[in-house]
Amino acid sequence: MANNVPFCTCNSHDCPHNPCNHDEGCTPCVLSNLESGEIPACFFNIVDPERKEDRGDYLRKDFARIVQKLEG
Ligand code: SF4
Repeated sequence: MANNVPFCTCNSHDCPHNPCNHDEGCTPCVLSNLESGEIPACFFNIVDPERKEDRGDYLRKDFARIVQKLEG
């Protein structure tokens, strides 16, 4: 299935929440992230597009650490 969210840069195509696997847009991804204390991959990708930093478990603290290092 084609990705129906053109700006989604998440490459976890096996994830059931990825927009390439359903037609509900970002909603399943955002809900899952909110419930698990994580930040969606697209946010990591925009601040660290070359994936130079360790993303840990994609937790809020991992995102904050990367933003602080790269943009702080
Ligand atoms: S919130 Fe999730 S589904 Fe939406 S663009 Fe970001 S990574 Fe993709």
